[in-house]
Amino acid sequence: MEVEITFAGEINLKPKSEDAGKLKICISVSGTSIDRETPNFVLSYDDFESVVSSYPSDLKELKGWLDLAGLTHQYVDDATRKLTECIYNSLMSMVFSPVCATLVNIHCKIIPSPPQAHTNNIRLMIPASKLSVDRLARRIFKNDKKMKTSSNSDDNKCSICMKGFGKDEIVVTLPCGHEFDDTCIVKWFLINHACPLCRFELPCQE
Ligand SMILES: [Zn+2]
Ligand SMILES: [Zn+2]
Repeated sequence: MEVEITFAGEINLKPKSEDAGKLKICISVSGTSIDRETPNFVLSYDDFESVVSSYPSDLKELKGWLDLAGLTHQYVDDATRKLTECIYNSLMSMVFSPVCATLVNIHCKIIPSPPQAHTNNIRLMIPASKLSVDRLARRIFKNDKKMKTSSNSDDNKCSICMKGFGKDEIVVTLPCGHEFDDTCIVKWFLINHACPLCRFELPCQE
């Protein structure tokens, strides 16, 4: 999961009298399962300087709101840090006037990471059984005419070392159809039991 922050500043030249000279920071969040029910978080200040003096206590409130907005604890700190940075950066790029209202809209977007990619990687870091590697289909590579017609395709190269198969080299064909040179794939199966290209799994080492 990643937290992406965007902001847009706006200066209202003819604000309602109660908003004149005020600075409002509106924070919204999207990408969590419960974001639709979460109202925006609004911070209101009398001037730029009061942001600096009030922010330490507002920060606690902001963290609580991010929690309510559906961010897991792991990401609340990351989001809070990025939001703080964004608030100060946006204030530095804006001008303050006692007759205008200044509005800063900050949007916090949660980008979920692909599900279970992490656990899959761990699961795949198990060597293939020696027997299953020994039994893989092997052939001697002959660069004959039939092969030349497809010499530019991936068919005639090892996707581990990216080298084209040499004449008389031993080529291993996995049950999934992917081919590698014998040296590379044997080394690969010492640490992993799935095809490097499609993750087709060979029996594991017991
Ligand atoms: Zn290779
Ligand atoms: Zn494969």
